[in-house]
Amino acid sequence: MNKADSERIAGLLADMGGNSVDLPEEADVVLLNTCSVRDHAEQRVYGKLGQLKKHKAARPGMKIGVCGCMAQKEGEALLLRAPYVDLVVGPDNLHRIPELLHGDSGRVAVAEGELPDELPVRRENDLHAWVTVIRGCNNFCSYCIVPYVRGRERSRPAGIIVDEIKALAGDGCKEVTLLGQNVNSYGKNLADDCDFAALLERVNDIDGIDRIRFATSHPKDMSDRLIRAVADLPKVCEQIHLPVQAGDDDTLKRMGRGYTVSDYRKLVDKVRAAVPDVILSTDVIAGFPGETEAAFQGTMKLFRDIRYDQAYMFHYSPRTGTRAASLEDQIPPEVRKRRLAELIELQNDVTCQINAAAVGKVEEVLIDRDNPADAGGMMGRTRGGKTVAVKTTGSDSRGRLIKVSLRQAHLWGFVGEPFEVLCSSR
Ligand code: SF4
Repeated sequence: MNKADSERIAGLLADMGGNSVDLPEEADVVLLNTCSVRDHAEQRVYGKLGQLKKHKAARPGMKIGVCGCMAQKEGEALLLRAPYVDLVVGPDNLHRIPELLHGDSGRVAVAEGELPDELPVRRENDLHAWVTVIRGCNNFCSYCIVPYVRGRERSRPAGIIVDEIKALAGDGCKEVTLLGQNVNSYGKNLADDCDFAALLERVNDIDGIDRIRFATSHPKDMSDRLIRAVADLPKVCEQIHLPVQAGDDDTLKRMGRGYTVSDYRKLVDKVRAAVPDVILSTDVIAGFPGETEAAFQGTMKLFRDIRYDQAYMFHYSPRTGTRAASLEDQIPPEVRKRRLAELIELQNDVTCQINAAAVGKVEEVLIDRDNPADAGGMMGRTRGGKTVAVKTTGSDSRGRLIKVSLRQAHLWGFVGEPFEVLCSSR
């Protein structure tokens, strides 16, 4: 979500005539797009602001802004702590950045609202686009600040999404990632009868788009229809991000996740039966309040059993205003960190094993960028989303689907060699 918002912010600045510079001290405008899911991320923003304050002193006229969820959460309070900040803009008010930069309408824009559909976007990679399909979340997991800063669920009408993706395809985009805090809730507030599986069908029919990904799927809302769509629709990649958060029923209950470990395991079995080559990833929190050593070992066991391809792993970070922050039995930071380190070691080991077992396979790779570490080499992703550095392809292969033989496995992905060009639509 934040990557998508950053591309909108860059688009707005480019529309105002802005160019990007390499160093913040060379900039007339520096906007930080922020996350408030974890305290560490917020502290880093204050650290960055301290550095920018020095640059601003040496460069009078420089404008500093804070955008995103932390801006939404802190509002005016952020200006008390960092009075040299010129604008504070929540995620639903990004379209107001130009007027705030001109100094026409105050310094803070955090009102509840809807981001307009028609915003300029400057994409990091013209072959790939993030497309928001649903904003906000109704789940209120007990540890999560997102529903408080991103608001309740609002789905964008399917027709608008389809038109946006057709326009992207016309501009040469090959791959879209459909985004939402919980894409499985897509369509619930819409008048037309279009759930997320039906939306995938409509996007699958768009000429020029080769690949469709999506994130994130709440396990309690993953329907059989969606699993079938991933299995049957040729452009929908075999990649599912299915956040488990914990491998212990009591912990899941305190988190308010709405499923048990057994429910989750059955869901994974169902997904793997329907989509045998699925690449599965997850999110997990180590050291949630009340997590006993036995409960943590339940998470370790789940990780050993499921064998995810990848996991986003964090230790618990209390967020003021959430239910979990006031739960008794907060786990000491050193225990949270130790548990996280154990999980990371386990998962890295599993990822390396899974990748090593794939050496020798031939995968379809969308070549999308130069390899900065290998002159003349290119990089891309498999349908499952794994990174592949491809030797001896040359930059004219950018935008093509190439069959690549995987030669070496790493934690980050693979080194491979071209096997066969599938198409050359660029
Ligand atoms: S479903 Fe995700 S975004 Fe929504 S409250 Fe739970 S963790 Fe937060």
